[in-house]
Order: sequence, then C-alpha cells, then structure tokens
Amino acid sequence: MITPNLHYADLKSSYLFYNIAQKTKAYLAENPDKKLYRMGIGDVSLPLAKSVIAALHEGVEDQAFKDRFHGYMPECGAPFLRTAIADYYRSRGIELGDDEVFVSSGASDELGDILDLFDRSSSALVIEPAYPAYVDANVMAGRKIVHLASGIDNGFLPEPSENAKADILYICSPNNPTGAVFKKEQLRKWVDFANENGSVILFDAAYEAFIEDEELPRSIFEIEGAKTCAIEICSLSKTAGFTGTRLGYTVIPKALVRHGMCFNDMWVRNRTTKTNGVSYIIQKGGAAVFTSEGQKEIHENISYYKENARLLMEALDELGIWYCGGKNSPYIWLKCPNGMGSWEFFDLLLKEIQVVGTPGEGFGACGEGYFRFSVFGSREDTVEAAERLKRLLR
Ligand code: PLP
Repeated sequence: MITPNLHYADLKSSYLFYNIAQKTKAYLAENPDKKLYRMGIGDVSLPLAKSVIAALHEGVEDQAFKDRFHGYMPECGAPFLRTAIADYYRSRGIELGDDEVFVSSGASDELGDILDLFDRSSSALVIEPAYPAYVDANVMAGRKIVHLASGIDNGFLPEPSENAKADILYICSPNNPTGAVFKKEQLRKWVDFANENGSVILFDAAYEAFIEDEELPRSIFEIEGAKTCAIEICSLSKTAGFTGTRLGYTVIPKALVRHGMCFNDMWVRNRTTKTNGVSYIIQKGGAAVFTSEGQKEIHENISYYKENARLLMEALDELGIWYCGGKNSPYIWLKCPNGMGSWEFFDLLLKEIQVVGTPGEGFGACGEGYFRFSVFGSREDTVEAAERLKRLLR
C-alpha cells in the first residue's frame, strides 16, 4: 500500500479562522438584527487601481489579435514585468538584475514552493507570533522547526541569539500579525547572523508598501551583505489589491550560493520544471502597478487603510491600551485590557459591541493575551468600531 506523506498527521488543526467563523455565525443566528464590524479580515476591500484595470483590459484585448496574442509566458516572468520590478527596486537604491527577479502567483504559493530549494534535513526558524503558513509548510516537509518567541520587551522584534540558530530564517517585516517593523540596524544583525552561520533568510515583504517612515527598510537588500544570505518574497495582494487577481514576485540574488550551488540557477530550473508562467493578462495588469500613475493610485488606497489605522490607534491611545503596528503596517497588535485572554477578549467584543478581531493566540503561543485588528475594512465600519471600543472600555 502506498505511504502518504505522514508529516501531514503532524499538522495542528488550524482552528483560528474556523473558530472565528463559527462564533460569529452562532452569534448572528441568536441575534439576527445585529450588524458586525469586521476588524479581523486580512483581505482588501477597495477595488484595483484604475491604471491596473485599464492594463488588464488591454491584456484581454491583445489576446484577441493574432499579432498581439500571447501563449505560454516565460516561466520566470514576462521580461516587461521583471524589468519594471527591478526598476522599482532601483528607484529605492537597490541594484538588481532583471534575472534576479521572478514573477509569482502570490506570496503564499511562493512561500510553499521555495522550500524545494532546501534539504528536508534543514531546520527552520519561525519568529512568533507569525503568519501560520511558515510553520505548516515546514511541518508538511517534516522539517525541524525552531520557535523563537517575541514579546513586549523587545517590541516583537527579537535579536538573533544562540537559540535562534537554524538553516532557514523566516523574517516578516512589516509583520503579520504584530505590525512591527525591523529597523536597519536590527536587520543587519540578522543578516550578519545568517552569513556567519551559512543560513538563508526568507524575507517576507508582503507589506513593504505600507512603510511610511523613510528610515525603515522596505527590503532586506537595503542591508549590506543581504545578497549572500537572503531571498525576498513579495506580493501585490495587500499593496495593490491583488488578493483575488493573484500576483507576486521573488528576488533571488545570484550571489546567494551554498555548497557551490546558486539558488538563482536552482530556482530557474525549478520554475521551468514546475510552472508554465503566470497569465499574460495578469502580468500586464501587474506592470501597471509600477508606473508612476499606478504607484500614485495604489498609495491612495494605502492611505485610505492608514486612515482606518489612525482612527483605531487614536481610540487605543485614548483608552491607554498598549499596541504596536498601525503606522507602517495594516495591522494593529494590542494587549488585551485587564489581563484578559485572547479568546475572552474576542467574546467580549463580539457580544458587547459586535466588533470582530483576531485573537493573538492563533499566531503562536506567545500571542496569548494579545489581539489583532486589521484596517482593510470600510471607513464607516472602522469609525463605528473605534467609537464602540471607546464606549465599552473607557
Ligand atoms: N505573507 C504574509 C505575511 C501575509 O500576511 C500574506 C497574506 O495575508 C501572504 C504572505 C500571502 O499573500 P498572497 O496573497 O500573495 O498569497
């Protein structure tokens, strides 16, 4: 009889969003007249930018004509998009070859697929609280996982240490769920640590465009030495509203080499074997994000979400509740008041003021006692949720 991948039996049931859905469903069944204020969603609510829509239409139109039609796309990405992304980095002072940029169908796909590049005996460091996919993707492969807890004492931005040693180091900045962002000197320590130990950093920059403080790094490649130890995984999902359209990109520098093997070459081989490229139409739409008009438009949407963040932060400041994130990220991570547990606070907000957030415990054990608000909802709902929070917790 065939043996399935037995590591799947080691996966913990992912009850976080299931539990939230069950609790809100039960509440609405008992209180059908109530409206919920959803501050937990990780999906965007604003439509795609106008220039993206125009480019998508153009892409569709191209497919209608023999001389403009595109069949299979290059596996590593359309040259026009790879160039646009490399130029985007160049505009921020980072020199990359077009062939160091790979187009993907999104960061989730890539975070899973990229693990093909590492031996199964390699270990993975996950700084917690963390985006749950990091742990699960490695459990599926049977890798040893090193959990590094973070907390208020280090602003949820821990430094490397002896007990943080692993082959693959996940760093997410701005972080989901905490919204915390590493400073350059903090990232430098991780880069030096990775180079010294021969590790590889998987830098998740899905929220880079939310950073507004100029001195904060938006890419690991702003740090000297990163090209010999890091892979950067990016997404247009939250930055440009592509959650349902699907597009991302990954940077693998040619200088990233271990055991004489170049990860960039390996990824070319992987992509040419395992994909037939991302749809021409979607890549055409994605390229519009990197034009000056596209950048202006996506930042208008980001500003809208940031205003939601400001309203929630103002309420928390007034209430004297500790939080991080919000300013350079679409997430606000707060300490549950009066020593409440994450789920206890969830139940209180749901029952008393119909506000739905995400219990921190779902992102790792050290998230217990914390709570995440996302700011991707509507302005009206955010205004009302902030008022309700103030009324309840004043
Ligand atoms: N990485 C982080 C930290 C995320 O929060 C998310 C989505 O919420 C992703 C990656 C996945 O993004 P994508 O929609 O590109 O798959």
